[in-house]
Amino acid sequence: MLSKKMIDGTELVVFDMEWNQPFSGKTVSNEIAVLPGEIIEIGAVRYEYSDGRLNRKGTFSCDIRPVVYKKLHYHVMKITHKTDADLKKGIGFEEAAARFREFTEGADLLVGWGNSDPKILKNNLKFFGLDDHLGMDFLDLQPIFSVFCGQPGQQKSVEFAVDYYNIQKQDIFHSATADARYTGEVFEEIFNHNKPAEVISAVSSSSVNPDMPTEFSFTGSDVDEAEACFAEVSDKILICPLCSRKLTGTINPFRIRKSQYALLNCTEHGDMFCRVRAKRRTGGKYYAAAVMRFATQNDYYLVASKKEEFDKYGSKGAPIPVPEPAPETDE
Ligand SMILES: [Zn+2]
Repeated sequence: MLSKKMIDGTELVVFDMEWNQPFSGKTVSNEIAVLPGEIIEIGAVRYEYSDGRLNRKGTFSCDIRPVVYKKLHYHVMKITHKTDADLKKGIGFEEAAARFREFTEGADLLVGWGNSDPKILKNNLKFFGLDDHLGMDFLDLQPIFSVFCGQPGQQKSVEFAVDYYNIQKQDIFHSATADARYTGEVFEEIFNHNKPAEVISAVSSSSVNPDMPTEFSFTGSDVDEAEACFAEVSDKILICPLCSRKLTGTINPFRIRKSQYALLNCTEHGDMFCRVRAKRRTGGKYYAAAVMRFATQNDYYLVASKKEEFDKYGSKGAPIPVPEPAPETDE
């Protein structure tokens, strides 16, 4: 939650980024695991809030030359209309990050459309050996817009929001610079068309700290049998990864085939989703791979449906349906 409410003088930065991605099918290297996307453009607009309105203070735009994924993925090429030659014109990520840092200096809130940009930004900062703390809260404006346009829970594109408010279209969409500008204008319109107190309240309750981890994974030691994996980490999954408090089972750990599920509760941090998988090494030994994260609506649904399966069929799980024989064809 936002540590302080928006008041006159609060400054915020609306930003958007484009990133290139590796081609699938290539040998999976360590790079893909640590760098799922390499940033190639950052666009941003800085605002100051005053008297129920957002006032534009400055803009930021920067093209970045990728060093890992140098060839544009066809999907990225299609949506961004960039070319391989464009990529070469950019500056290095370190310099771009320093300039962006300078642009956001002293702001209270970062705003984006969708929740993936802060993750990719932190990921790139870390990859390039830079400080990955963003140091301010992040607001995903997309669900806020859905609420104020009367369609809560629906995912809308920036373009939809731009049309909704009759914002003049000057640039193509899917350039970070244009999308940051459009997102900012949508935010301006949300303030213009609603009671500022209501917008501020929605902003406060939806802002998150992007520097706090939301997912934790760890592995157990090697054991001889798949069955033994679960016992090996059974104590470890009952400790809150954030505060080390003892977790209690909202839905106690249960196992279906090679996966164990649980919904655990920390009195301080709320519900955590937990899944442990028994994995086999090439040498034949087994180990547990555990994932714990703050439970989302999808996680509640997943654990509840797996529990239903477990209650009905036990740890063997529902019988796997026998595939229908392929229809015979005359050729
Ligand atoms: Zn905790």
